[in-house]
Amino acid sequence: EQDAQYLVSKIRTIPGFPKEGIVFRDFLPLMADAKAFSIMIDALEKTLPVPVDDIDYIAGLEARGFLVGPPLAARLGKGFLAVRKAGKLPPETLKENYSLEYGDAAIEIEQGIIRPGDTVLVVDDLVATGGTAQAATDLIRRAGGQVVGFSFVMELVGTDGMKKLGELPTTSLLTMP
Ligand code: 5GP
Repeated sequence: EQDAQYLVSKIRTIPGFPKEGIVFRDFLPLMADAKAFSIMIDALEKTLPVPVDDIDYIAGLEARGFLVGPPLAARLGKGFLAVRKAGKLPPETLKENYSLEYGDAAIEIEQGIIRPGDTVLVVDDLVATGGTAQAATDLIRRAGGQVVGFSFVMELVGTDGMKKLGELPTTSLLTMP
């Protein structure tokens, strides 16, 4: 509880970014604080939504999932899969288009990097509507992988993300108003 409060104290809130009406929760100050960073990775390890032996890979969503995923993957002794924004990976990719609150987006994963049946835990800094995590799940499934759960640092209250992903085990460290 004290740890959670310490983590929350390191989250920066930026009203009106990147668009008016959005209250942006920025966890980079948390990453910059050695104690908070360490508490965060410890907590993600302790609150894994599935047993560690049920996970083959940790997948992180560009860009902030690239900050959370690799240290957690290294801690757990797992490989890391990069789910990138479209257009950034060398040609052989699988692509998933999806809708955001404002407009459309697309993510990609390298073809062949997942073997059939590989199990994947998806991580990101924040879940709001769950649209991004759902798109990553669809993409990983199309690539032959099996998404076994989700770990988030922050969950925005008043959004349906956790419910939307609810059929799979999901944990978040901090609930943000
Ligand atoms: P969702 O797809 O669940 O609606 O939105 C989550 C995605 O958008 C995540 O990849 C997350 O990094 C980004 N995102 C949405 N809102 C915020 C926010 O307030 N702060 C941060 N850091 N990321 C956000």
